[in-house]
Amino acid sequence: MRLSKMLFVTLREDPADAEIPSHKLLLRAGYIRRIGSGIYAYLPLMWRVLQKVSQIVREEMNATGAEECLLPQIQPAELWRESGRWDTYTQAEGIMFSLKDRQERELGLGPTHEEVITTVARDMIRSYRQLPLHLYQIQTKFRDEIRPRFGLMRGREFIMKDGYSFHADEDNLKKTYQDMNQAYSNMLRRSGLAFRAVDADSGAIGGSGSQEFMVLAEAGEDEVLYTQDGHYAANVEKAVSLPLAAESSPFTSYEKRETPETQTIEKLCQFLKGSPTQVVKNVLYQAVYDNGMTVLVLVSIRGDQEVNEVKLQNELTRLALQYSAKTVLSLSVPDAEAQQKCIALPLPLGYIAPDIEDNYIRSDKQLHPKFLRLVDKTAVDLKNFVTGAGVSGYHLVGANWGEQFQLAEVVDVRKARPGDRAIHDPNQILQSARGIEVGHIFQLGNKYSRVMGATYTNEQGEEIPLVMGCYGVGVSRLAQAAIEQSYDKDGIIWPVAIAPYHVIISIPNIKDPQQVQAAEQLYAQLNATGIETLLDDRDERAGVKFKDADLIGIPYRIVTGRSLSNGKVEVVERKSRKSQEVSVDQVVSTLKQWIDAAMLVASY
Ligand code: ATP
Ligand code: MG
Repeated sequence: MRLSKMLFVTLREDPADAEIPSHKLLLRAGYIRRIGSGIYAYLPLMWRVLQKVSQIVREEMNATGAEECLLPQIQPAELWRESGRWDTYTQAEGIMFSLKDRQERELGLGPTHEEVITTVARDMIRSYRQLPLHLYQIQTKFRDEIRPRFGLMRGREFIMKDGYSFHADEDNLKKTYQDMNQAYSNMLRRSGLAFRAVDADSGAIGGSGSQEFMVLAEAGEDEVLYTQDGHYAANVEKAVSLPLAAESSPFTSYEKRETPETQTIEKLCQFLKGSPTQVVKNVLYQAVYDNGMTVLVLVSIRGDQEVNEVKLQNELTRLALQYSAKTVLSLSVPDAEAQQKCIALPLPLGYIAPDIEDNYIRSDKQLHPKFLRLVDKTAVDLKNFVTGAGVSGYHLVGANWGEQFQLAEVVDVRKARPGDRAIHDPNQILQSARGIEVGHIFQLGNKYSRVMGATYTNEQGEEIPLVMGCYGVGVSRLAQAAIEQSYDKDGIIWPVAIAPYHVIISIPNIKDPQQVQAAEQLYAQLNATGIETLLDDRDERAGVKFKDADLIGIPYRIVTGRSLSNGKVEVVERKSRKSQEVSVDQVVSTLKQWIDAAMLVASY
């Protein structure tokens, strides 16, 4: 392609609304253009990158035996009502764009396709003989993200590969799950990315497990905890670890102590000259269930630990039936305003006791009249602990479960932290890294097939729900994540496998017929050899052309400049900035060798 004929506009200045390097560079280099909040036009250079990533994804998916299809983006509300997700997705979480057609039928714009694919399976899969099956698509998804940001990283319209597999049993699902693990690793390696597969939260679905593929980068929104030995890596939402051992308590007798101005654990420990590991702190949460019921939750946890709200939400979902509900719509620490709505008496904040009385709760039919009391494992074994007395300005010391306080339901909702010891080997210490989630593979089990009645007949003639897996890759997020891992002060450095073009030929002086002729000839030869080439034939200064070539990040630049008189051109590698003179008749074969080698390294 000739730059003179392209929509090619680069910016010298960083755009004001971009925060992270990859977003700034995509805008500056003319790859994308913002059209609205979280909505971008993929300009020609970007579209080529996205097609390359899609092609790598497609090849790896096809290699596993999965079949490509294309499902509708407009989805009837009835399907989502069948799965029970319509209200959650359109109202509670609000992530799904929804609309009404002129016949007043409700529709949603697909954020994901479990419902659609399960309907297809329900209609078309009858017998175990048809199993296993795996269908995938590469398509634009819509999600009304609360905080769209970082360009293509978190858009409201973005490209995803989503695949869904169907199996006769869990063992067979596990096999495909393993294949996907391999396929995803291949895709990311081929795209030139440094990544880590980590244990991920499977949310309320629970069950058999899921893994996320994290591209390691400072700008990542996720925190990953891992051990140096390579045996453990997990999203912090899911991570487990061994907490430090608690120090033994100096308080051997039970008493109420005046502890003024000790609302925080730190102040309390200073005052009592004790360790936070001897304290049971009681944290108040408010959970709203899908039937409108608000439940006040009191979590008792060791003073030096924090609550992992993802784990807590999973526990609350598990307990939903107790409140005649199915799922938790929201979970939060009630602020002053929320407290006013649900608390009848002033709370002794900072001094709450594990047995806070239920009459603190306002009487209201939307409010459950009793606290849900949960005790984290870290607080269970404490002896002679310190905790709030339920009266402002006082704590209890030397308290014990089974004596002063009844032990409520025990849960594991503690947040693992960097510095904790690993469970598989206590000598290994958890370390922290930032990651960008580019893929997620998931063993769904029969969650959707059961509620939507997607069954098959097994060898014994019994009709049972299909076992399902689902597997997503954020194609557009992945493309941007590649830049986040590979750029310098001058611009993007694309991995060869996903660069929009392999080579750019810069003609320093467009008025020099010898330069133009050499460039034109190389341009024709390179393209004929299958090397994707840009020709910078604009009437611009050489400096401008070199700057632009660096900015857009094309792996190799050919300059038809001074050395032409010796029958040579200059070839510069973007990544290393190494420059060498190559004779004109060897440029094509040399570049072909380099490019083939770069692709080969990535694919093994
Ligand atoms: P996140 O936790 O980042 O919101 P998710 O877990 O909701 O993502 P999935 O439903 O697992 O996302 O979707 C599969 C993949 O699609 C993700 O791994 C991610 O790469 C990509 N993706 C999800 N949401 C977005 C978005 N708003 N913009 C771009 N890519 C996205
Ligand atoms: Mg995910």
